[in-house]
Amino acid sequence: MRRLTPRQQALVQLLADGEFHSGEQIGERLGISRAAVSQQLKGLRTLGLEVFSVSGRGHALAHPLELLDPALLQQAVGGAPVHCVAVVDSTNDYMMSRLADWRKGECLLAESQTAGRGRRGRQWVSPFGGQMILSLYWRLEQGLGAAMGLSLVVGVALAETLVHEGYDHMGLKWPNDLYSHGQKLAGILVEMSAIAGGSCHLVIGVGLNLAMSLQQGESITQAWSSLESLAPGRKIERNRLIAAFIGNLRQALETFEQQGLAPFIERWAAFDIYRNQPVQLLLGEERVTGTVRGIDEQGGLLLETETGLHTYVGGEISLRPMLESCRISPSE
Ligand code: ATP
Repeated sequence: MRRLTPRQQALVQLLADGEFHSGEQIGERLGISRAAVSQQLKGLRTLGLEVFSVSGRGHALAHPLELLDPALLQQAVGGAPVHCVAVVDSTNDYMMSRLADWRKGECLLAESQTAGRGRRGRQWVSPFGGQMILSLYWRLEQGLGAAMGLSLVVGVALAETLVHEGYDHMGLKWPNDLYSHGQKLAGILVEMSAIAGGSCHLVIGVGLNLAMSLQQGESITQAWSSLESLAPGRKIERNRLIAAFIGNLRQALETFEQQGLAPFIERWAAFDIYRNQPVQLLLGEERVTGTVRGIDEQGGLLLETETGLHTYVGGEISLRPMLESCRISPSE
């Protein structure tokens, strides 16, 4: 885990406007030589920041950037601590490896991850400053069984936060991904561990794309987008947006703990992008095709197949749209 050095912090803050700054100007502001400026810029690139250097103009970040501000976040959300780091392998891994250390609602945010993960170990691409990378600790006294459907609750909290912030066309794919216009905007990864005595630890990880260049996203294996590309030219107030989400997520978790999934079923349905759509479910080697009919009261997927209506639950299932070619009827 790494934090920015005070000098790196000052340099990023200087470049954060996305404008060009000459080496001379940077040197003066930081009180260092031109050679040291080059070294510092190299350090930022090592952290994964995209810094352009153009002779005669100077140095600029690929995107304007608002660094994570732990004091501002803490003040905005109150309650359990909010921690921010520059680089970590994975915020979920870090929290999962120290489960006894956290208070309910405590958060860890990172500017970037070197080993961000999706489900089943798939890679989650998380370049410096381009996302909300958040893990939140929760504890359920009722145990693992009561956590069923939790990733749907997280999806609802995320989608509703973004709609409230003025972003339209938010959609959820069962069980845990946020899409917009058919492109993946955020991933959710809920990890759990039982505690002797019946309760359980939960680490809720969310990666939301805010502003990423095509180059930064080039290793992503499916169509993706970012908030910036959904509303070009609109400034993303990163810390304010993150604080709003943390507040909504904590509130949603309280509700879930007291009332279960019931208050979220309709809210989830409002974002269900595959409702009444033909899909394929991947269950390991097995494939099941059918039409999505929403979710049941435990958060299981309701799929109508040739043999009737069935419920599917479990972390090993992936939902995929039917290929367009499979949907074209012979008469078309
Ligand atoms: P499912 O959960 O239904 O199996 P999935 O393939 O999207 O779907 P996840 O484990 O949820 O799998 O997420 C990991 C996948 O997300 C990666 O395999 C990659 O395709 C995609 N991905 C990785 N990084 C990003 C990113 N920053 N933005 C959007 N998508 C990403």
